[in-house]
Amino acid sequence: MIRISSQFDSGAIEVVDASDPTNIRLRLRDDNTADVRQWFHFRLQGARAQACTLVFENAGQATFPGGWEGYRVVVSYDRRNWFRLQSGHYDGQRYVFGLTPDFDSVYFAYFEPFPWERHLDLLGTADASPVATVSDLGATPDGRDLNLITIGRAAPGKRRIWVIARQHPGETMTEFFVEGLLERLYDTSDPVSRRLLERACFFVVPNMNPDGSVRGNLRTNARGVNLNRAWREPDMTDSPEVALVRARMLGTGVDVFLDIHGDETLPFVFVDGNGMVPGFTEVHARAEQRFSDTLRAVTPDFQTERGYAQDRFSDEMLTLASKWVFHQFGCLSLTLEMPFKDNANLPDGLFGWSAARSRRLGEATLQALLAALDAE
Ligand code: ZN
Repeated sequence: MIRISSQFDSGAIEVVDASDPTNIRLRLRDDNTADVRQWFHFRLQGARAQACTLVFENAGQATFPGGWEGYRVVVSYDRRNWFRLQSGHYDGQRYVFGLTPDFDSVYFAYFEPFPWERHLDLLGTADASPVATVSDLGATPDGRDLNLITIGRAAPGKRRIWVIARQHPGETMTEFFVEGLLERLYDTSDPVSRRLLERACFFVVPNMNPDGSVRGNLRTNARGVNLNRAWREPDMTDSPEVALVRARMLGTGVDVFLDIHGDETLPFVFVDGNGMVPGFTEVHARAEQRFSDTLRAVTPDFQTERGYAQDRFSDEMLTLASKWVFHQFGCLSLTLEMPFKDNANLPDGLFGWSAARSRRLGEATLQALLAALDAE
């Protein structure tokens, strides 16, 4: 007897009919209160050694239908080691994939999950580090803690570097990125980290959207708000996550800002800057250039050929975190995007873009941040 379940941390799927293993009919579930769907995470039981075919019947109505082109599902038996299925097919409406499970239970997800327990472990590691402290910014709509990790000590003359991740909770690669960045920063034998902490204090929000993460949402918080459209006018009822972080930023000031994201469609790592925002000068351009040149030099996973088109500026853009921060503080302020699929310039057939590579990218980014400070 086959069973499919998703009543666990970040679980999300709807079962239409699982009676026939060769045609397991599923639907992508909406975010809890928004017309958004793409994230999935579920467990299939009782199909050991049976050839299973699974179908997302509403893949064509996903928020980013282009995300299914060339996409391969992430799978694990033990919830520690995740790998990619070797194939999957999108016909413009349905996404079909298959597996003959080696074990009684198998987990499927859109990307390797970053569980809430691991988030708490990340805070525990920060607390145990002599260079970091953990503080509470306030509560989310569901009553979860919104935490800030501070690394190094703020002091006159020191730069203030802010890094936030997981405004879009389904972009779990972003918290792996932060994990890699933090662990390198805690390493007192690393010369890049030492120099950075000599010159700067870090403020890191590893998970901007705890409620959406646990609820298994792709893009919104418990109130149905896309937090990366709430920066101009956040409020304490619907988007307290942004209101709380914004208030702290106004208190500390910001010299460098990174907002970490995952892109469903583009198979590349890239950054999006502020060239179109009024007030952007040669000095800002140099800092962006220095950051990108350095990151490209230290990791072949980063590139500058492909990215978002530079739209004409509109006030609406100030609802986005990196645009609002640039407008408010006039500093280097970037959105960094990782792929859900793979880096097409350096593909990995077994794992695609993965948690491990996201961590490596987080580590490498410290070098680019140091170069950006030097550019000033
Ligand atoms: Zn995003």
